[in-house]
Amino acid sequence: PSAATGLEIRDLTIKYGGRTALDKAVLTAPVGQITGLIGPNGAGKTTLFNAASGLLTPTTGQVMLHGQDVTGLGAAARGRRGLGRTFQLMQLADSLTVAQNVALGVESGMAGSSLRGQLIATRKERRATREAAEYAMELCGIADLRDVNAGELSTGQRRLVELARCLSGPFDVLLLDEPSSGLDPVETEKFGETLTQIVETRGCGILLVEHDMALVLRICAQIHVLDFGKMLFHGTPSEVRNSPVVQAAYLGSE
Ligand code: ATP
Repeated sequence: PSAATGLEIRDLTIKYGGRTALDKAVLTAPVGQITGLIGPNGAGKTTLFNAASGLLTPTTGQVMLHGQDVTGLGAAARGRRGLGRTFQLMQLADSLTVAQNVALGVESGMAGSSLRGQLIATRKERRATREAAEYAMELCGIADLRDVNAGELSTGQRRLVELARCLSGPFDVLLLDEPSSGLDPVETEKFGETLTQIVETRGCGILLVEHDMALVLRICAQIHVLDFGKMLFHGTPSEVRNSPVVQAAYLGSE
């Protein structure tokens, strides 16, 4: 897959006061595959996600989406261009049903705000929202849970609802921040299969921040290794597994 269709991070530097959290980081996450981003705590993964999704303005460098420079755009504008994300801490509305939570993702990708969506949506728009939510729930295998309140779900089910919410919008590049955290090994394995299927079915790209190395090595086409704000290495799972640099900096410390 070409980097021109997908996300490209070019020489991104981010400083918090005097502290450099990201130092000329370079990364591509093309559509059609899962790209992993790993690194020890504090390496800068969340900072990179925040800059990629438009929540942080970089000190220097560029964020390119489908070949266009989006560095100057806010998070909502990047969403409309196809960039979706989940957060490390789940943000579901517990008192809403699964279907309603997933539908919020459709509205976040609409041209107007979600407020506009709720106030003046036509019947046609509401039907389109319902259908997009239904499609995303099917993809994630949670259609049976559509009428259950999010507050009643297990952690594994909540992770899938989050993913479905992200998928219900018109997104083609998804940033997933530790989506398997809180899942047991069986749920994690199934979750990995779901992600692989989603990429195949939708043809989207996923940039995955994940602490579970086994999952990353199993489902990612390319893996980028971040250490102290610098990109240390990138390669295929077997290249990462066999890299002495990575082992010394990261795997060895597990
Ligand atoms: P983790 O795996 O623990 O989530 P991470 O790889 O996501 O870590 P970041 O959260 O991006 O790492 O942090 C990178 C560096 O920037 C760390 O040294 C962190 O202490 C620092 N940092 C993060 N956010 C801020 C902030 N708002 N102000 C100052 N320093 C920050």
